[in-house]
Order: sequence, then C-alpha cells, then structure tokens
Amino acid sequence: MSKKVGIIGGGIIGASTAYFVSQYPDAEVVVFEKNTLGSGTTAKSAATHCLIDDSVAHEFWSVRLFGFEFYTGLEAENPGSTGFEKTGTLVVAPYRDFEMYVLQAVDLAVASGYHAEYWRDHDRILEVIPDLNMEGVLGAGWCPDDGFFDATMITNTLAKAARDRGAKIMINTEVEEITTSGDAVTGVSTTNGQFDLDVVVDATGPWARFTARKVGLELPIWHTKAEVFILAPAAGLGYPFPVLKYPRWYARKDKDNVFICKAHMTMDLSDSEHAGVWDPDELPMTGGTDPYFWEFLTGELMKEYPRLLESSIANEWVGFRAEPPDFLPILGETPVKGYVLAAGAGGNGVIEAPTIGRDLAKHVMTGETSWYMERLPYSRFADVEEAKRQSQAEKLQR
Ligand SMILES: Cc1cc2nc3c(=O)[nH]c(=O)nc-3n(C[C@H](O)[C@H](O)[C@H](O)COP(=O)(O)OP(=O)(O)OC[C@H]3O[C@@H](n4cnc5c(N)ncnc54)[C@H](O)[C@@H]3O)c2cc1C
Repeated sequence: MSKKVGIIGGGIIGASTAYFVSQYPDAEVVVFEKNTLGSGTTAKSAATHCLIDDSVAHEFWSVRLFGFEFYTGLEAENPGSTGFEKTGTLVVAPYRDFEMYVLQAVDLAVASGYHAEYWRDHDRILEVIPDLNMEGVLGAGWCPDDGFFDATMITNTLAKAARDRGAKIMINTEVEEITTSGDAVTGVSTTNGQFDLDVVVDATGPWARFTARKVGLELPIWHTKAEVFILAPAAGLGYPFPVLKYPRWYARKDKDNVFICKAHMTMDLSDSEHAGVWDPDELPMTGGTDPYFWEFLTGELMKEYPRLLESSIANEWVGFRAEPPDFLPILGETPVKGYVLAAGAGGNGVIEAPTIGRDLAKHVMTGETSWYMERLPYSRFADVEEAKRQSQAEKLQR
C-alpha cells in the first residue's frame, strides 16, 4: 500500500524532501506551497556552500560534503540547474581559535579529494584580494573548488525532478489547517481543498513556529535578521571576487557587485536587535533593513576591507533565519504522530537541505533514523515550557 506524504513548504528544504521521498516507489507525494517555489527565505539566500568556512561545525562534515557533492553532481548532469559559481573561498583568520578551525577544515577538504591550503604569507592572501588590511591577520584558508549556488534554482530543479517521478507540486496553495484524530495527523485542509495524508512534513522555514501551532505545538524557533546589502564598488573591483569569510561577516560576488551580510553565528537570540518572533508574511522582498546592521558592516569594513566602502548600495533586503536555540535544525518525529519536522535550518539550509531531505525520506518511508536525525530531535529541547513562555510574552507585546 502506498504512503501519502504531504510536505508543507516549497523552499529548498521542502523541495529536497520531495525529491528524495519521490524516489520511493510506494510514496505518494504532495508539496503545498502558498506562494511560488523557493520564494521564501530561499530566495533571499547567499547560498554559499564552502568547504572550509565556519558555517557548519566539523561534527557535521559529512552533511557539508554530501550537500556539496549532491549539488555539483546535479550541475554536472545538467549545467545551470543549480546556478553553481565556482569562485573559490578565502577564509581570513584574525585569531587563534578561528585559525585552528580553518586549519582543520583545510585538512578535511584535502582528505575528501579537494584542493585547499592555509597561507600565513600575507602576500599570498593579497594575490586573491589585494585590498584587504593585513593588520592582525594570522593567515587565511583558500579553497578554489567551492563557491556559491542559486538556492531558488536548486529548489525548482529538485521540484521538477520530484514532479517527473509523480509528485504533485501545488503552488499558490496554503495549508490552513492540519487535521488530526486523537494524537495523530490525518491530513491537511488547504485553499485548494482537503487532502488525506499519512505523514505531514513541516518544511515551512521561518513560518514553522506558526505552522506548528496548527497541531498545538510550540516550536523553540526564533527568527534572526539576515540583512543583506548589495554593494556596487566604484569603478569595479578589478579582480575576481571569491566567497570571502571573516568570523563576523561574509561577502560574495553578485554579478558585478558584492553581496555582504553579518555572519549568522554572531547573532544573539536574546538581543532584540538581532532576533525575535515576527511574521514572515510581513517581510518585503527588498528593503526594510535596519541602520544597526549597516553600521556594523561599515565598522567591520573600515578595519578589514576599507576599499569596499567606496561603493554605492545597489540593493538591500532582509530575510528571517529560523533558529532553534542551538542554531541546529529540528528533525523528525514530534508528540503529534505523523507530524514530522524539517525545520529550523537557520543560516545553513542550503548546505543541509540534501541531507535533511535524504534522511527524512528514509525515515518516513522505512522507519529508519539516521545519526543526523538522532542528533537533532525535537525532544532535545526539554525546556519547551520556556519556549512557550517566551512566545506568550511575544504575543503580549503585540
Ligand atoms: C540573507 C541570507 C543568507 C543566507 N545564506 C546562506 C548560505 O550562504 N548558505 C546556506 O546554506 N544557507 C544560507 N541561508 C539560509 C538558507 O537560505 C535557509 O536556511 C533556507 O533557504 C531555508 O529554506 P526552507 O525551505 O526551510 O525555508 P523557506 O525557503 O522559507 O521555505 C518555506 C516555505 O514555506 C511556505 N509556507 C509557509 N507557510 C505555509 C503554509 N501554511 N502553506 C503552504 N506553504 C507555506 C513559504 O511560502 C515558503 O516558501 C541564508 C539565509 C538568508 C536569509
């Protein structure tokens, strides 16, 4: 008998989950997306997928590697399908702990068959980006093999592959209710009708906090502001621009311009300038940035890359990263039978989407639980009461 799997959310996580679930012949897959595919956080992403940066801890090296090889495999099969730009990555280390992290990343990349090096020679670093201020820099990691992707393009590619294998992809379809009987999910009611389902996967990114309330759960997921500025350097930079990472900010090429953002691991969930619980439907596609983030970035550039301040701002926008307190996703079963989480990917959803999709698909279709899912269950947040209390406070503030 086939298993009916509904996936709420057509961002990169939902599309990846649909891609992998649809590989099981006994799966009937439906994706419900209230807008268009990849139009949420996914559309606002930098989609950097570096082998040597500090975005994902080394504990999750296999997640990083699987994601990178999965996307570059799709790109090799069908050029342009993931929007891969192989710019390479330069990771600058201004202090010892960070240097240790980058050194280990370089080793992991090399051990996996990629080219990566660590340079202490400042002249070598300046060959990549001549305008960096080298004062206080210990060294930099360099990997020429990686770069960034186009997260919306990946989403569409994965959704198309799922559709070709029989999945139903319903855009402009909002899930209004998740129906239950006792403590188990029975289906969803949407703006395009009612669906009976065995499993409902919640892949609604920053909406997940609100989606989960439809089954009476309060997820410990906060929003951190990802404020992006697209800089148009005066007279162009005159050199190829790699992904550039510092511990507190990062940048990458955006056609002839530079995309720059505060690093997500520097966000503080208890700082109301960084984080809160907000309505993602109220986010405009562009604009809406706060002076705080621009001031932060100009301060960093003044110290580390003053030449980049000789730019105009070509565009700017805000995205919400969905962050659990440990900045790691929440995956798998919940107290509501059949309501399964693929949520809280925060600032790493592009890197994590292939592993999340693959492992959730296997779990949903066979009952097997991967080490990654066992490491990141909903149940690790014993203090869900505290999450509830905070949510109540947020409601009172409105
Ligand atoms: C500025 C910025 C830079 C980033 N840079 C990187 C990076 O360099 N590398 C990296 O790995 N990650 C990065 N990320 C993080 C990454 O983009 C996200 O983790 C990822 O896109 C989240 O995908 P998602 O599918 O979980 O969520 P989303 O893309 O937000 O998708 C959720 C979808 O659910 C839909 N939805 C919500 N409620 C309903 C409902 N009731 N019914 C139907 N549909 C619904 C929404 O319309 C939306 O399309 C960045 C994020 C931002 C904002």
